[in-house]
Amino acid sequence: MRDAAGAEVLVIGAGLAGLSAAVALSGAGAKVALVERKPHVGGRAYSYEHPALAEVVDSQHVLLGCCTNLIDLCRQAGADRHIRWYDEITFLEPGGGSGAARRSEIGASFLPSPGHSSWSFLRASMLSVADKAVIAAGLLEFLRGYPESDDEAFSAWLKRTKQTEGAIRHFWEPVIVGALNDGFERCSTRYAGQVFHESFLKSAEGGRLGIPSQPLSEFYAAVAERAEQLGTAVHLRTSVDRIGRRADGMWEMVASDGAVFGAEQMVLALPFEQTARLLRTLPEESQQRQRILPAMEQFVHSPITTIHLWFDRVITELDHAALLDTRIQWMFNKSRIRRFEEGAGAGEGQYLELVISASFAELHRTREEVVGAAVEELARFFPGVREAMIVKSGVLKEARATFSVVPGLDRFRPAADAAGEGLYLAGDWTRTGWPSTMEGAVRSGRLAAEAVAKGAGGEGGFLSADLAATGLMRLLVR
Ligand SMILES: Cc1cc2nc3c(=O)[nH]c(=O)nc-3n(C[C@H](O)[C@H](O)[C@H](O)COP(=O)(O)OP(=O)(O)OC[C@H]3O[C@@H](n4cnc5c(N)ncnc54)[C@H](O)[C@@H]3O)c2cc1C
Repeated sequence: MRDAAGAEVLVIGAGLAGLSAAVALSGAGAKVALVERKPHVGGRAYSYEHPALAEVVDSQHVLLGCCTNLIDLCRQAGADRHIRWYDEITFLEPGGGSGAARRSEIGASFLPSPGHSSWSFLRASMLSVADKAVIAAGLLEFLRGYPESDDEAFSAWLKRTKQTEGAIRHFWEPVIVGALNDGFERCSTRYAGQVFHESFLKSAEGGRLGIPSQPLSEFYAAVAERAEQLGTAVHLRTSVDRIGRRADGMWEMVASDGAVFGAEQMVLALPFEQTARLLRTLPEESQQRQRILPAMEQFVHSPITTIHLWFDRVITELDHAALLDTRIQWMFNKSRIRRFEEGAGAGEGQYLELVISASFAELHRTREEVVGAAVEELARFFPGVREAMIVKSGVLKEARATFSVVPGLDRFRPAADAAGEGLYLAGDWTRTGWPSTMEGAVRSGRLAAEAVAKGAGGEGGFLSADLAATGLMRLLVR
């Protein structure tokens, strides 16, 4: 039974964690109020109309086929039809002089897992034979799974498994820095191994790349509508200043406009620093402060910078590509991606978005410096950039884009019910077994919903099953 009927639940934060908790709990019959300080839902996965550019911009988010909970939530809301799926990823090496970039495609073939990508991998010109040999040997470590302990840094693993410089620069770095958004020292082997096991080895479906073709706030508005259809009361533009527990055991929150909401159970579906801020409004001796706050000092942020360029002409026919030997990890061709939406993407010219992960250096650079450097780098891949005119440009710096899965962090990630007494925790940073991703956030919301349901005498069961191993992996996966 997944019944939470009768429970009154306050969910604070309408990012993916809060939205997924609200959908799960309302679907199970609970009376839910969802409170969000911004005028839109989606949290960090948001878009907005940029006043100076007169364009709707977002930092492109991608998902993988193995993100089963996120995909299921999108399906429930009907948003899945706005996801474009790709079976291949194009890696580009810069061309010399005015030459075109060298291209390698990695994607699934007819071969059974774990070898489904091996055909394209063996043909990839971005890697030498020696690089491929050490990568294949390294991947064997993740064939059956990935380490349970997160104590080892991925930098140590690269050294231990004798990865070559080419293998690191053209394979491990684009994938890991792109997926975990930090340097190898600040990523544990556990999560790096998870990325490769789930998306590269276990099944072809797990590695499919999904890109929302709508601006993100539009895309996730459907999930909020789904929550409302199920009975959730959504309160936007309501910033919570403090929380507290009444003498009768009820939880309450006070918003900055003075509004007070009370409920038997409360879910904080916030980033870790906002969770800490609200926990500090509880009395010092409260068990929630004592249990949760000390661990939160272990969490650190990592930034992402995106550069948005509108050209007067077409620069590339690719929808997206991973760029090698540059600070830019990804190029998204927003004109082409958004063209999949009816009426969008028309017109001449082209809108490209460039993503710089772990962009600590860019945080301290001016808009002009960031755009100038990015355009110069982009021209090494697409020589047409040199002749093209940039009609307009923008830079989005997200200093607190993700938390880093630094080695040893897992023991500090609290479970949904760690605070106790009817206060629950959600958010990508909680104990989900996933790194800082939309899938991690959705899982956290569902885990919190499960804890609430159990507290009300139900059983939970809100999580989607992981993808099954296919091919030979069925015999190997532990
Ligand atoms: C630039 C960028 C690129 C990214 N790319 C990807 C990607 O490609 N793939 C991927 O899977 N993930 C990506 N991520 C990470 C992903 O966005 C997050 O992991 C995920 O969205 C976190 O969701 P959440 O619900 O845990 O937290 P949040 O999204 O931060 O949601 C928390 C919500 O709480 C609200 N809130 C905060 N304080 C209060 C308060 N006091 N009162 C009321 N409301 C409050 C906030 O406004 C917010 O809406 C990216 C993140 C960024 C920033």
